[in-house]
Amino acid sequence: MSESEGAIAPKFDVIVVGAGPAGVAAATVCARAGLETIVFERGRKPGVKNVMGGVLYTRPTAEVFGEFWKDAPLERCVIEQNAWILTEDSAIKLGYRSRQFAEDIPNSFTVLRVRIDEYFAQQAEAAGALIINETKVDEVLQEDGRAAGVRTGRPEGEVYAPIVIIAEGVNCELTKALDMQSDLRLEDAASTVKEIIRLDREVIEDRFSLGPEEGATIEMYGASTQGMLGTAFLYTNQESISLGVGVLLADAVKDHTTPFDMLKQLKQHPVVAPLIAGGESGEYMSHLIPEGGYNRLPALFGHGVMVVGDAAQLVNGLHREGSNHAILSGKMAAETAIEAHEKGDFSAKTLHKYRQRLEKEAPTMNDLRKYRRATGFMERHPWMLSLYPQLAADSIADMMTVDPETKRTKQWNIVKDVIRRGWIPRMVWDAIDGGRSLI
Ligand SMILES: Cc1cc2nc3c(=O)[nH]c(=O)nc-3n(C[C@H](O)[C@H](O)[C@H](O)COP(=O)(O)OP(=O)(O)OC[C@H]3O[C@@H](n4cnc5c(N)ncnc54)[C@H](O)[C@@H]3O)c2cc1C
Repeated sequence: MSESEGAIAPKFDVIVVGAGPAGVAAATVCARAGLETIVFERGRKPGVKNVMGGVLYTRPTAEVFGEFWKDAPLERCVIEQNAWILTEDSAIKLGYRSRQFAEDIPNSFTVLRVRIDEYFAQQAEAAGALIINETKVDEVLQEDGRAAGVRTGRPEGEVYAPIVIIAEGVNCELTKALDMQSDLRLEDAASTVKEIIRLDREVIEDRFSLGPEEGATIEMYGASTQGMLGTAFLYTNQESISLGVGVLLADAVKDHTTPFDMLKQLKQHPVVAPLIAGGESGEYMSHLIPEGGYNRLPALFGHGVMVVGDAAQLVNGLHREGSNHAILSGKMAAETAIEAHEKGDFSAKTLHKYRQRLEKEAPTMNDLRKYRRATGFMERHPWMLSLYPQLAADSIADMMTVDPETKRTKQWNIVKDVIRRGWIPRMVWDAIDGGRSLI
């Protein structure tokens, strides 16, 4: 039952803080196993405070929510994914389209958080979890060095459970207070802004060559973030387009620019503008994405406590994967909570199985470890998203222009230009360091 008023029992088996995908996944799995589970959500209802691009991946989501695609409020099944490199006035486009993405178990769907979070919360409630909205958890209570409950702003104040699962998202106030992680540095988070642009269903399907339930995604690099470390995205919904930009906070601060300014410019880009033409501006949202990855993982567990989803920095920014790791980490924390209840042992000795599960039963840790040098690489090679896109665009434009020059002369001119600018040593270093950092 979801409620914001009325007395709450003082004791539960599990307390979950935050009703995003991570918290609700944890609550659903715990409640299904018969554990008395309560979720506190500070928003008016799940999803209203949350932001995502957003592409939801089917298989990890189905591990908790079964065949959700049969009745969940999804936007479109993604059958086409694109990566565009933008310069000021052009785009180099790479894409992959296949109906395979929609067959059997579809690969992913575009979603709007306000609708999908509510659906997930309903599944948790159907399993028996109690979701209390409009209630911020102010503190994780500790007894004898272990988490024992939470203090909220509600009249009852304190609620107790031998296990607290923290799914508070990127702000991580509670984990900081527990000394499980330090302050987020500017290098560890991307500042993002997203706009929903309303367009008729037929217009979307016509512009993107889509069938009625089919969707497309476009990730944009280069001029979309003015060469800063980050990406822009455009995702098709049923009757709207989600358009957004995210850049590393450190870069945005250094350049005195905001993702909002970049979004404004992106909407005027000659390649993007026709896709959103005639659209009606809907909501604007902004949010941080944790980008610290493997190097900045907090303590994932302690005595009586586990940390899941964005609160645990479990985001693979390079592949825009966050919701999948949030759901899987919520599930694995819940499975560990169930085991702890069976053993009657809530100490870190039992809860460390949560981290083991993340290592062995999900791609999460392996993927984060693989990209642990990616941000450092981009910091060492800041020209990657400005110099190369322009060089590639100029070269392609030259090769495709039919004029009196032969193709061989054109190729040679490009090489001479690169040599004249002294870029060869830089390119060699980029390739070697890129190979070491990204492969
Ligand atoms: C612009 C943008 C685009 C993205 N695109 C994608 C994408 O396309 N695909 C993808 O997989 N991921 C994407 N992500 C990442 C994804 O949204 C997150 O990884 C995912 O939502 C994390 O889920 P979570 O449950 O850990 O945190 P959240 O979704 O942030 O949920 C945390 C919840 O906790 C609540 N809360 C916080 N503190 C308290 C408190 N003290 N007491 C009570 N409640 C509290 C919040 O209100 C919120 O409901 C994107 C993120 C952004 C910002």
